[in-house]
Amino acid sequence: MRKLLLPIVIFVFLFTSCEKKPYVENEILLSTICTITTYDEKAHEVSLEAFDLISHYEKIFSRYEENGELYKVNREAFSHPVKVSDELFEILQQARTYTVATSGAFNYAIGPLVSLWGIGTEKARIPRHEEIAEVLGLLDWNAVVLDEKEKTVSFLIEGMELDLGGIAKGWISRSIADFLSSKGVDKAIINLGGNVYALGEKGRGEDWTIGLQDPSSERGGYFATVHVSDAAVVTSGAYERFIEDGDGKKYSHILSSETGYPVETDIASVSIISEDAAKADAYATACFSLGLERAVELCREEALEAVILTADGRCIRLP
Ligand code: ADP
Ligand code: MG
Repeated sequence: MRKLLLPIVIFVFLFTSCEKKPYVENEILLSTICTITTYDEKAHEVSLEAFDLISHYEKIFSRYEENGELYKVNREAFSHPVKVSDELFEILQQARTYTVATSGAFNYAIGPLVSLWGIGTEKARIPRHEEIAEVLGLLDWNAVVLDEKEKTVSFLIEGMELDLGGIAKGWISRSIADFLSSKGVDKAIINLGGNVYALGEKGRGEDWTIGLQDPSSERGGYFATVHVSDAAVVTSGAYERFIEDGDGKKYSHILSSETGYPVETDIASVSIISEDAAKADAYATACFSLGLERAVELCREEALEAVILTADGRCIRLP
């Protein structure tokens, strides 16, 4: 069982001065708080079904779900190619694309390192240097083979493990938005632990306003707002899961596949705004780990819209 560390949610402030009273439903899934906000009774009923869908995807994409697909891939893909569902294959292809594009700052083959540190679980600990050195050879994303024709996954190195923790919530938020729209819901806010997808417009020609929480203020204020319709706002930040050593040093849950250690970054939080929620999620993780200078370069290369709060309190908006 994964331990749920609260507060791990990025509080997203919704400015919903709508005429109608919103329906807000919460459930703990994906090791976080998932909230769906809808604006009429029929949409509210549909939103209740959406939680089952989140739970369905969690079983497929989680590394910890013993009857799940990714679990099977991680156990068996070195011995033989493992056939996977269309959904898993799709997210893996996207994850591979972003892994290559960010040169592993987002690395979907980070699994063995995540397991070693255990951040966010009951097994969290600071490993020895030798243990870390051993695991570094297992993080080579080029040793993962995705066969498009057969829809199979194989590993060229024994002990490899894929981890979709840095992209799955984004991907799922978009799928939930698609599900709601397919059922006739024209506006909703889906918030999966700081991965927000704003479906539709708030009003005719009017965007949603989403506030980004200041990590230094407890539940308190927000440091910036963004205005979106049919787009994701995904945040990675220093206020989520971490472990602390005896000296009070904090280690982030985002790890570097170069050093094997949790990243030390001059970014307090980074939010990516994109219609492609999975991309926003993967790039938020990548930008956080790269630090300000390289994160700014990466967002410019990809023409991504971003809001970065630096550790020394500066707010930078891109483009
Ligand atoms: P959160 O899950 O808290 O919203 P992120 O989207 O930034 O935050 O993802 C962090 C998760 O991604 C970790 O818990 C771990 O499962 C995985 N992860 C850690 N480091 C990396 C990395 N360098 N690349 C890809 N995934 C990572
Ligand atoms: Mg992410």
